[in-house]
Amino acid sequence: MVHAPPPPAHSLPPIRINLYSDTQTKPTRAMREAMMAAEVGDEQSGLDPTINALCERMAALTGKEAAMFLPSGTMCNEVAILTHCRPGDAVLAHETAHILIAEGGAPGALAGVQITPLRGADGQFDAGTLTDAILPRSRYAMPQTLLAVEQTANLGGGVVWPLAKLAEVADIAHAQGMATHMDGARLMNAVVASGVAAADMAKGFDSVWLDFTKGLGAPLGAVLCGSARFIDDAWRWKQRLGGALRQGGISAAACLYALDHHIDRLAEDHAHARLLGEGLGALPGLRVQAPQTNLVYIDCRETGSTAETLAQRLRAEGVLISVMGRTRLRACTHLDLSAADIEETIAVLGRLLRG
Ligand SMILES: *Cc1c(COP(=O)(O)O)cnc(C)c1O
Repeated sequence: MVHAPPPPAHSLPPIRINLYSDTQTKPTRAMREAMMAAEVGDEQSGLDPTINALCERMAALTGKEAAMFLPSGTMCNEVAILTHCRPGDAVLAHETAHILIAEGGAPGALAGVQITPLRGADGQFDAGTLTDAILPRSRYAMPQTLLAVEQTANLGGGVVWPLAKLAEVADIAHAQGMATHMDGARLMNAVVASGVAAADMAKGFDSVWLDFTKGLGAPLGAVLCGSARFIDDAWRWKQRLGGALRQGGISAAACLYALDHHIDRLAEDHAHARLLGEGLGALPGLRVQAPQTNLVYIDCRETGSTAETLAQRLRAEGVLISVMGRTRLRACTHLDLSAADIEETIAVLGRLLRG
């Protein structure tokens, strides 16, 4: 089981501390003011100045020629797969990839592609695993046309792909004639944690996108980037899927605000995640994967409780956390959480486990 929905809110105390996901942040007052002031136009006709400005910023940030604004990260992944692949093709991706486990089967349902799952620690795979999964080209084999990676790898623990490893797998894919795609839902978390520029991380990738609704705190929006030719082709799928917008600049203004004000502060989320990881790791029966970014994965096997039970007991104390497996929990830090919330979470869970 992966990412079960939160329990029903009735008969439970209010949520005091929300560690469920960085998607649960609310737009700040200043972000809402930026949205209110946005200049807008018809995006479908290329006339929304705020969306155009956001796309230019994102193309420059990722070192690509062009960019496209979409409502969600899921739509970025699906538009990219539809653009890179044809029905019957295969996408090579980690076995825990969001496209495989959390998009409702969209690659199969919409693009008619299958996914070849790759294994490896931390949501990553190495050159050997990738090479072993490549089928000799023949009329029997499915055409393997796309390699996808996640930066950071969500189910892998929010771990950052090292630059050399990214370059290595991208080179192997390109040498086979495959395209490469980076799911950069939390790309800026990787950038802030490693100090490596987004454009360097995206260098070997034909498409890359960033989500604005995770730690960046916007209410909606993600931007897909690539060559001018790729974005041109992708526009047909945006149109087909009903993703072409009108006065979407209202939302893009929140994304521009996030680029200006919510990137550097991700370091604070990472510090909170480390604090939480250290505190929880010291509690009886909990094993914590040392966080590199804002995701903290906790194994509770040795407590004798399931993740579900522990999450329910925490929820009864007003703390919301997500269940990511039978004994696997995930806590996610973000801009609506303070250091005091982190201390409180450690204290509450400590009481539950000791009492
Ligand atoms: C959240 C997420 C997505 C999907 O983004 P949405 O904006 O929620 O549609 C895709 N990939 C990864 C790794 C994610 O964490």
